[in-house]
Amino acid sequence: MRERVPMLDLAAEVEFLWEPLQGAIQEVLRSGQFILGPEVEALERELAAYLGVRHAITLNSGTDALVIALRALGVGPGDEVITTPFTFFATVEAICHAGATPVFADIDPDTFTLDPDLAAAAVTPRTRAIVPVHLFGHAAEMARLRDLAGAHGLRVVEDVAQAFGGRFRGRLLGTLGDFGAFSFFPSKNLGAYGDGGLLITADDALADAARMLRAHGSRRKYYHERVGYNSRLDVLQAAILRVKLPHMDEWNRRRQAAAAYYQEILADLPGVVLPAVRPEVEHVFHQYTIRILNGRRDEVQRALSERGISTMVYYPVPLHRLPVFRHLNLSLPAAEAAAREVLSLPIGPFLRRDQQDEVAAALRAALR
Ligand SMILES: *Cc1c(COP(=O)(O)O)cnc(C)c1O
Repeated sequence: MRERVPMLDLAAEVEFLWEPLQGAIQEVLRSGQFILGPEVEALERELAAYLGVRHAITLNSGTDALVIALRALGVGPGDEVITTPFTFFATVEAICHAGATPVFADIDPDTFTLDPDLAAAAVTPRTRAIVPVHLFGHAAEMARLRDLAGAHGLRVVEDVAQAFGGRFRGRLLGTLGDFGAFSFFPSKNLGAYGDGGLLITADDALADAARMLRAHGSRRKYYHERVGYNSRLDVLQAAILRVKLPHMDEWNRRRQAAAAYYQEILADLPGVVLPAVRPEVEHVFHQYTIRILNGRRDEVQRALSERGISTMVYYPVPLHRLPVFRHLNLSLPAAEAAAREVLSLPIGPFLRRDQQDEVAAALRAALR
């Protein structure tokens, strides 16, 4: 069956932005400046202003942002870093690439984010940092995680890959830890048309260390102080992001409106749990993720697919159950249940109400 409702309609976005995108791309081609320079610097200024933060350092990917943040903080071999088992693999991959040991603490089943009590229970004398993930656009419990970090002298790197523009108690996500690490992967709320990433920080010394690591560990060309990375944001992607950034508030509002409409039309479905809405969190709905109970998730997903409705399972395997971490022999029941039950429905700034009605009708039929 033809796809009637895509997960995210990037084609509609490209169509909407066609003229300004063409202009921006042509300008880069004519400029002859293809590595860093004015376009990337302008984007960094605009991102810093949008996020209300001193330093915005653009990078090659969100994965690199996490690795560079940890290394700039001096996290390395012998250190433990607490994180969630229910996230994209890159979160934990970054901890391993920094040379540290990941320690998984289970999630709060209502919000799918790191449970602060379980994170507290995971602290040992070797713990150096916490990496909370604002999963699906919903903030982790940052007040309690910050208290925990304060009490034990831990660093905090927020994984904001899925939550650009989201807030906790009115404060923008990414500004609550030592570093905020963002991704510009195309499907993210602020996505490029290729790879890209961002680190933000209020700390001058940390920003300087991150910039140095981005450029092969050098502040001055050919004078390398540390073993770093080639992790610059591509100039064409910077130009594309500058076209998209002014639309972010409106596009996040449209995601929230679409989510509110789902909450309304899916409210009475039996055996379905809708996303939690917390008063202290401004959720930006990178995903609209429901639970399908009673072991029926896969069957429901197939039924929707037969009616041309795309859905995704983020994530089918909690990280501690992947081959690379299976030897840890962990039991993290909330993450395991989530992996069995979650289903993300189509969402995005260009999703139409009639498409949402189709999703609801198909869900209703599948559950009957
Ligand atoms: C996308 C994502 C990343 C990695 O970002 P890339 O730009 O793809 O490297 C990290 N963490 C989370 C939670 C993500 O969703």
